Amino acid sequence: MQALPEYSGGCQCGAIRFHVVGALTHSSICHCRMCQKAFGAYYAPLVSVRGSEFRWTRGEPRRFQSSNMVKRGFCADCGTPLTYEAPDGVAVAAGAFDEPARLPPTIQYGIEAKLPFVDALGSLSALRSEEDAEAGDFLLHILSHQHPDHDTAEWPPD
Ligand SMILES: [Zn+2]
Ligand SMILES: [Zn+2]
Repeated sequence: MQALPEYSGGCQCGAIRFHVVGALTHSSICHCRMCQKAFGAYYAPLVSVRGSEFRWTRGEPRRFQSSNMVKRGFCADCGTPLTYEAPDGVAVAAGAFDEPARLPPTIQYGIEAKLPFVDALGSLSALRSEEDAEAGDFLLHILSHQHPDHDTAEWPPD
């Protein structure tokens, strides 16, 4: 039997980590106003984990009951949005996965609230981090406290 695909991820600070066994095939973005607010973003990228084996491997999110039907999970230490939890299943923030490129979205929801400039984002002028002259000195001295994109035995390291 072929091994099931596996995925891992977590919040920015590493206090919360998760693991998924089973193919994730439903990746979406939601433009609704509640998702905009919950993610502090123009839209929310979410991957349904319904039908897979999902578990928290370090810590667990705090939840905000954003409506009578839905809870939003986030890291209480660093604020990373992590889940959308509805009666019919849980979806996990796509950017929180260690390899979000494996989870391209295939559908959009809530387009009645889509912000008018979203479709034009891809045509904005675009710079790599090192091409941004104003960021030069900043980049030379930056020291990341972000958890790496893989599981760790201990975090933060000593
Ligand atoms: Zn965190
Ligand atoms: Zn939404």
